[in-house]
Amino acid sequence: MKKVLPFICASSWPLAEKWKQALQDIMPEEQIFLFDELDPKYYDNCEVAIVANPDPQDLKKLPNLKWVHSVWAGVERLIEDSKKHKSLQIVRLVDSQLSKTMSEAVLAWTLYLHRDMPKYAKQQTQEIWLPHEYTPPEEKTVSLLGLGELGTAAAIKLVDNGFNVCGWSRTSKKIPRLECYTGEDGLKEMLTRTDIAISMLPLTHETKGFIDKNFFFTLKKNASFINFSRGAIVDDSALREALDNDYLNHAILDVFHEEPLSASSWHWHHEKVTVLPHISAPTNRKTASAIVAENIEKYRKNGTIPQSVDLIKGY
Ligand code: NAP
Repeated sequence: MKKVLPFICASSWPLAEKWKQALQDIMPEEQIFLFDELDPKYYDNCEVAIVANPDPQDLKKLPNLKWVHSVWAGVERLIEDSKKHKSLQIVRLVDSQLSKTMSEAVLAWTLYLHRDMPKYAKQQTQEIWLPHEYTPPEEKTVSLLGLGELGTAAAIKLVDNGFNVCGWSRTSKKIPRLECYTGEDGLKEMLTRTDIAISMLPLTHETKGFIDKNFFFTLKKNASFINFSRGAIVDDSALREALDNDYLNHAILDVFHEEPLSASSWHWHHEKVTVLPHISAPTNRKTASAIVAENIEKYRKNGTIPQSVDLIKGY
């Protein structure tokens, strides 16, 4: 008999049906239901669910739920919600395709800054013909905050493209061709030599508001900043101050405190800000479904739950 496997997401999510179909296609031995379609008589049977920003109230209705498999890499909201659901294990998406997509975005937007594209775009609007001096990537230092699945892959991509690359993480690391830092002193040392700083940190109680005034003013003057992880990691007023005081050259922001970004937000019209609508690394439905399927299959066979996030660390 087929096992019942709920896919829990916001009921209004336009991609819900496509996800359900992709998961069903790759797991024919499971019966996948969107939560709204799941008959309450099956609630007791569900030990595992696949989730994408689930309503915590839906999770609460499954009394025997042991673990959830997220189809996203960032799970801070799920961690917050699961505080009421103490024994629940959260497995996040780790997918080499996602790391590739993020590395591509990191390289694309690093090159955008490196080749002065914001400057030339502005000059064109003013009909100004003015070449700026070229500095090779070997003379530029790009620093990744966070050397996890995504940060490390992105760092290596940048090294392969000729940049000097540094990385900072909570625990110390040795990664060939990267200069790795840790701790407060390490961060300071790294920032003072950084031309482009890129956030790849997860949002946790430690990283919330962590990129603050002190951070921006420790960076090399005229450095640029890219945020591809989570908006709430940045103190927005400090960011604006650093941009307005000509301390920071440019900011590329893919993530914000509130998404979608409100029409009244200052970011839209700031000449030193590039706004992106959270597109740096979308989950690939095909590869993610295959990873989820493999993990669910192992669990059904021998009860193995993949490594889950550390609820104390928050990632
Ligand atoms: P990960 O594998 O968990 O790596 C997190 C990294 O951050 C690790 O190197 C960790 O250090 C470091 N870190 C965590 N807390 C820290 C702290 N307090 N101080 C210093 N370093 C700290 O995460 P990931 O898979 O690379 O993903 C990173 C984030 O990207 C996700 O959490 C998500 O928010 C974001 N994301 C964004 C998009 C998008 O489209 N914009 C897409 C996917 C993911 P250790 O190595 O020492 O543990």
